[in-house]
Amino acid sequence: MELQVKHVITWMEKANEKIQSNKEYLTSLDQAIGDGDHGLNMARGFQEVVNKVTESDYTNVSDILKDVSMTLLSKVGGASGPLYGTAFLKMSTAVKGTESVDFPRFRTAVEEAVNGVKQRGKANQGEKTMLDVWEPVAELLQNQEDLEAEELASTARKAMEATKDIEAKKGRAAYLKERSIGHLDPGSVSSYYIFSALAEVLDE
Ligand code: ADP
Ligand code: MG
Ligand code: MG
Repeated sequence: MELQVKHVITWMEKANEKIQSNKEYLTSLDQAIGDGDHGLNMARGFQEVVNKVTESDYTNVSDILKDVSMTLLSKVGGASGPLYGTAFLKMSTAVKGTESVDFPRFRTAVEEAVNGVKQRGKANQGEKTMLDVWEPVAELLQNQEDLEAEELASTARKAMEATKDIEAKKGRAAYLKERSIGHLDPGSVSSYYIFSALAEVLDE
């Protein structure tokens, strides 16, 4: 794997397409166990990300990931904005100093992103948050020599689906206690879109 600026641009475009076409779906998931704005938050944020990264020039992956982070932080809002902002900021920092990103560095970047999200949200895996997708993905990378697009997508999908059966301990859904069981976590679904978009980029 060699992640270059052009790949990150395509990654964000594909993630945005998935989010835009599933905006109503994300909203309905958040209506069930939250306040019903996740689709809107993510659609607004990722459209701004695409606008930003396609109208700017970048010489390295770190700079573009930093712009992704800052845009998500300022445009998404809610709980998910600062958390996604943190994830991309940690990735940006982890890949500083190289033009493109090889697999070991990407693995470290995702690990740092997970640590950052955990710290910022004071959450752990199994609490029905986006971490339930991010952490299994980070674990998958730890056990690989190179990135396998199909495995990345299927790991993220299974992890997302598994949030349905557990009780929320963090975020708005935690107020519902056991009534949160039986519903997918909206942030895990949007995280799945982000990783499946990356898998598509790596497959090309
Ligand atoms: P809000 O809940 O403020 O309306 P969103 O609806 O945009 O924000 O995002 C909700 C998602 O954010 C949840 O589905 C969950 O995945 C994620 N989330 C909420 N709180 C946390 C947390 N403390 N740690 C990690 N992720 C969280
Ligand atoms: Mg919400
Ligand atoms: Mg909200």
